[in-house]
Amino acid sequence: MRIPIIAGNWKMHNIAEEAVKLVNELKAEVRNTDVKVVICCPFTVLAEVKKAVEGSNIKLGAQNMHWEDKGAYTGEISADMLKDIGVEYVIIGHSERRQYFNETDETVNKKVRKALEKELLPILCVGETLEEREADRTYEVVKSQTLKALENITDEEMKSIVVAYEPVWAIGTGKTASPEDANAVIAYIREVIKEKYGEDISELVPIQYGGSVKAANATEIMNQEDIDGALVGGASLKAEEFLAIVNF
Ligand code: PGA
Repeated sequence: MRIPIIAGNWKMHNIAEEAVKLVNELKAEVRNTDVKVVICCPFTVLAEVKKAVEGSNIKLGAQNMHWEDKGAYTGEISADMLKDIGVEYVIIGHSERRQYFNETDETVNKKVRKALEKELLPILCVGETLEEREADRTYEVVKSQTLKALENITDEEMKSIVVAYEPVWAIGTGKTASPEDANAVIAYIREVIKEKYGEDISELVPIQYGGSVKAANATEIMNQEDIDGALVGGASLKAEEFLAIVNF
């Protein structure tokens, strides 16, 4: 049985005071013990959020990391730095990073491998653009992104990966994939993982949906058979909205 993971991706939002306030509002009210709850906050507030989530069942996540251990990489953050603060999860290959910060399948793969080596749990994002969807290339794109990100990942390591299917056209746009459609793509991603790692491992990997998840559509999305939770952007910034998703 896979445990669904509901992760808030704060993106570039919240200074320390706002972050701590939001976490304090959340932590007393996270009632659903059937899901894992993760908050992926900016680097600058990881330490404060770590302190604020203590004693609750909210886990700490980052939104990116570099694949090198250390060195002359101005502005970058390493896996060891994240571990040092107590980070457990790290989003890798978010479409905004692919789109605006030149992340490629190759760098995504390097980051996934380094995260696993350092025992961080990667939340690997894949998803097609609107153009790709309209050209009927959704399945081809998610297959290619998934397989490239998983190059040289062992069977054992695969058991620590979370995948997030995030159609790019649904992120921050208010448009969601229909729950059935998202479920079908996610079932397909599981097939791709099965072809490479076998059924037993493929059944262990949580695959989330992300893209305009909100209180009003969370139940319908989460009730889909193959969808194991959500990666939530905008709606994770308001306590009431995120709680409604978490406690769906
Ligand atoms: P959204 O973002 O919920 O604001 O659409 C999701 C994401 O980018 O992870």
